[in-house]
This record gives sequence, structure tokens and C-alpha cells, in this order.
Amino acid sequence: MIVIFGSGIIGLSIAHRLLENGYNVTIVDLKDKTGNATDASVGMLAPLLEAKPYESNLFQLMLDSKLSWDKLLKDTKISRDVGLKNNSSLLIASDDDETESIFFKKNFIEKLGVNPKVLSAKETLKLESNLNSNIKCSLFLEGNNQVSPPLLKSFFIKNISEMGGKFLLEDNIDKISFSLKKVSFSGKKIDADKIIIACGVWSNEILKNSFGIEFSMRPIKGVSMLLETDGELFKNNIWFKNLYIAPRTKKLLAIGATEDEKGFEKFVTVDEIFYLSSKLWEYLPEIEKLKFNNIYSGLRSTIIDGNPIIGSLKKNGDIICSFGHFRNGILLGPITAEIVLNYVKGNKIDKKHLFFSPKRFNL
Ligand SMILES: Cc1cc2nc3c(=O)[nH]c(=O)nc-3n(C[C@H](O)[C@H](O)[C@H](O)COP(=O)(O)OP(=O)(O)OC[C@H]3O[C@@H](n4cnc5c(N)ncnc54)[C@H](O)[C@@H]3O)c2cc1C
Repeated sequence: MIVIFGSGIIGLSIAHRLLENGYNVTIVDLKDKTGNATDASVGMLAPLLEAKPYESNLFQLMLDSKLSWDKLLKDTKISRDVGLKNNSSLLIASDDDETESIFFKKNFIEKLGVNPKVLSAKETLKLESNLNSNIKCSLFLEGNNQVSPPLLKSFFIKNISEMGGKFLLEDNIDKISFSLKKVSFSGKKIDADKIIIACGVWSNEILKNSFGIEFSMRPIKGVSMLLETDGELFKNNIWFKNLYIAPRTKKLLAIGATEDEKGFEKFVTVDEIFYLSSKLWEYLPEIEKLKFNNIYSGLRSTIIDGNPIIGSLKKNGDIICSFGHFRNGILLGPITAEIVLNYVKGNKIDKKHLFFSPKRFNL
């Protein structure tokens, strides 16, 4: 039996992969999941736009995970179920500075072996006629597409239950103890060969209280919005310097996202609504036609070096960590689940994946 703490996208992806491989799985979470990152996420699958020049290990991990998403696109039924779209991303420049940064980004991406196109304003508007006509140009990245996080979550929950996975919801879990193949928490004791900590930004708290282990990690708050339109406004995902828009369906746009250090604050503040709305107003004409549907606030778990923690603890190899996915947990779900599966199986871990292990912090 494998017990997973946390049922965000990371815990669910791992549970699903383990069940596919014949393991018994129990997933434990809290009744109150307010502030989890997954429910606020937009679902962009765009490694090339997320890549930073100094993060080559992470970029490779994102590319590897993207391959799994691209493979899944061939299954039209699952793709429909999870809202996986075969569209692309356009990074828009609205002034000279942004145009310069688009060419900088293009050069950087070319060094990674990909040749993105820079489209003129006219070419961009031909693809996406609802953009503001004052744009300067855009960078077109084919296949940097998106999935719908709420549909993906529902898909996992349904399939995990059908495959025999069990879900437990608790009022509070401050501390767990794990020994002799039993894990205890909130007055319960259940069988567990291995346990997986996938509690996002709350992983540190549980590790510290239970095993005296702490990573250098902090919450980065993000707010996103869901808006309704009368008809299809965009076909592709639209990225500006400070905002991105994912057309989830023909009439639903997901808009992201703020990025702030506000501790564990979970509620939405007016300045966050103002930030997203005013950016949208800068970039899109006629925002008065957009109907407000919902707003979400989530805490991204962020490790000091920007990379997730995936792997066994030095102190006890049967405790596997999987958190710190910051801005890319949806994209990284498939590869994270694959790496964790290898740790569970006791397989030799690929050198490029060992980089993400807790051992890089000597933990
Ligand atoms: C606004 C926003 C937009 C984003 N957009 C994208 C995007 O476009 N593409 C992308 O790839 N990523 C995106 N991300 C990042 C992505 O959402 C995260 O990296 C990912 O959701 C992390 O998943 P997780 O399962 O680790 O954490 P979470 O989703 O936070 O889940 C953690 C779970 O652990 C549970 N938990 C907490 N404490 C305990 C405990 N003691 N015991 C048991 N369970 C516990 C919580 O209740 C929660 O269910 C975005 C994030 C935000 C906030």
C-alpha cells in the first residue's frame, strides 16, 4: 500500500500512475482545501515560454513532460475529457521594449534547438483578429498548448476511484508518524509500504512537524479569473508580458495570473482584481463584453532554487517527496508521476532526474 498525502494535481497524477502499475493507493487530504494551487491554475503547457536561461535541468524536465501531453493528444476521447487542446501560443509585443524582449526570447529559444516564428502585427491580427490593433508583433510557438485543470482533476478522481484507489478526508493533519510499515495521523493508523508527501506549499509544515526536516521553500500567491464571452475570441493561447489568456472553450477564457509574496494569504484582494482587469484592458479592446464567471486564489510552492523536489529522503528512503512545482505543476504532472513511480519501484533513477532529489539539499 502506498499512502499519498495531498490530492492536488501532483498527488492525483502520482496516484493514477501507481494504480496503472498495480499498486494499492490511498490518498489523504484535508476537508478544507482552500488556497490549493491546482484549482487556481490556468493549465498552460508551454515549456518554451516558461524556460529561463539559467534553468536548464528544469527546462529539460518540462520538455520531457510535454512529450507525454503530446502523446495524449492522439487519444481524442481522453483529450476531450481533460480539455487538452491542440492549439499554440502567441507571445505579443505591444511596444518597442516588448518587441526587443521578443527577439531576445527568440534567440534564446533558437539556442535550445527550436525555431519559433516572429509574426508581424498584420500576420498576428490575421490569426487573432480580436487583439488590440496597436500591437507590434508576436512570437508564435507551435504546440505550446493547454489542458483544463478542473476537467483533468475530475478525470483523475473518477479513474482513481474506478481503479480501486481510496480517498480519505481529514479535518486536520499536523503531524504523521511512519514506522514498521504503518502510517499514523489524526488518530488513524493504516498500512503503508511507502508514503508520498505531495501537499504543495504545506509539505514543509508536515515534514517539519513529523520528521524534523525543512526545505527552503515559500508560497507565491497567484490569482486567476474565468470570463465568459458570447462567441470565440481567440483560437490560440495569448501571452503578454504580464498576463496570459487561455481559451478553455469557445465561450470561456481563463486569465492568469498575479504573482506575489503574501505569505499564506488565501483570499482575493481588490488590488489583484484591479491588476488583472487593468492589464486585460490594456491588451484587449471591448472588455465590457467579457462577463465575469469566477476568480481563484492559489499558493504556488516555490523552492529556493526554483526546481521541484522529487525523490526519497536521505533519512528514510520510504518517504518520497513531490512538491515545489511553482508555475509548472500542471505541465510537470506526467513526468513527476513517472519519476515517483521509479522511486516506488526501487528502480535506478535517471541521472537527469536525480538532480531534483531532496539530496541536493543534503536532506
Ligand atoms: C494562478 C496560478 C496559475 C497557474 N497556472 C499554471 C499553468 O498555466 N500551467 C502549469 O503547469 N502550472 C500552473 N500553475 C502552477 C500549478 O498550479 C502548481 O504547480 C500545481 O497545481 C501544484 O500542484 P500540487 O498538487 O503540488 O499542489 P496543490 O494543488 O496546492 O495541492 C496540495 C494539496 O495538499 C493538500 N494538503 C495540504 N496540507 C495537507 C496535509 N497536512 N495533509 C494532507 N493533504 C494536505 C491541500 O489541501 C491540497 O489539496 C499555476 C498556479 C497558480 C496559483
